[in-house]
Amino acid sequence: MVDIEDLREKARETISRDDVRCVFGWKRGTYGYESAPAVVRKPEDADSLIFDATCVQNPASFVVLEEKLPVPRGKEPDTRKIAVFVKGCDSRAVVQHLVENAYLRENIVVLGIPCMGVIDRRKAEKLFGESLEPVEAECSGDKVALNFGGERKEVERSDVLSEKCLRCRYPNPILSDIMLGTEVEKRAEDEFADVSEFEKKSADEKWAFWEEQFSKCVRCYACRNVCPMCYCIDCVVTKLKPQWTRRSTDISENTVYHIQRAWHLAGRCIECMECERVCPMNIPIMTLNRKMTKEVREMFDHEPGVDPEAKPLLASYNPQDPEEYIL
Ligand code: SF4
Ligand code: SF4
Ligand code: SF4
Repeated sequence: MVDIEDLREKARETISRDDVRCVFGWKRGTYGYESAPAVVRKPEDADSLIFDATCVQNPASFVVLEEKLPVPRGKEPDTRKIAVFVKGCDSRAVVQHLVENAYLRENIVVLGIPCMGVIDRRKAEKLFGESLEPVEAECSGDKVALNFGGERKEVERSDVLSEKCLRCRYPNPILSDIMLGTEVEKRAEDEFADVSEFEKKSADEKWAFWEEQFSKCVRCYACRNVCPMCYCIDCVVTKLKPQWTRRSTDISENTVYHIQRAWHLAGRCIECMECERVCPMNIPIMTLNRKMTKEVREMFDHEPGVDPEAKPLLASYNPQDPEEYIL
């Protein structure tokens, strides 16, 4: 478990440096099972920082946004470093950003947090209903304790943690400049059981499933906006000249959007599940992303976001690569 005072002190020390412009982390939200993102721009902002099992959001998404902020006319760009707190899965986004040259290693400060899991809001709401008060949550062994304004409830971790945490192989940050707390033990392997189950369906069943799911999509683009790996300034789905995807939310255009996005994330998705978490229509986007991840791992022995020295999948060529997918 991370000592909150130590976390805040590390944030204060970091933002007090002349070469750091901000620190991204988490603060208590105003309601519900998820904390809110926090940005520290002066030492006193660090007083509100927290870390517990409600710190679901991946703050690495903010690093690319901050890095790409437009510079107002007549102003000099802010070249100071961006600091970010990361859990294990969040750190994979930072690693993949570095692999893709989204920013340079010397331009960031990474504060690593060993992690035992985060809450799945939908699971928690099924168990306890919506909460209009902010909930606190701590993992300990096989249990998660939730605190509803003084009332404590304990549940099995599998009943309330995110699916990504139940198969997590990287609970400790893969890279960090400053490490908080002590490393935690990896508790699971990932055999892609969910994908194998889906693969058992016939082609017609798969299409019927996706037709139903894609029909629900309202194209709010929350899944794209929250994704740490969707950071193109000019996204193909909103381009008008040329227009690759129309804006209408019919099954045809929605399917194009989702397939296009899955391909753009092939070999890049770091499985943080943020896209699925924020979807207002509860579309199981990870079913698609995980299938692509499994294919990439099996075909190219490639796993994104785990090796800062790796080359991006689509920028590396191996004569031994399988070619059966080339028509
Ligand atoms: S996937 Fe791993 S690192 Fe990420 S929140 Fe879950 S347990 Fe923590
Ligand atoms: S967040 Fe959900 S509804 Fe919005 S565009 Fe993505 S899949 Fe569609
Ligand atoms: S596609 Fe989803 S799981 Fe993959 S990196 Fe983006 S938000 Fe995370």
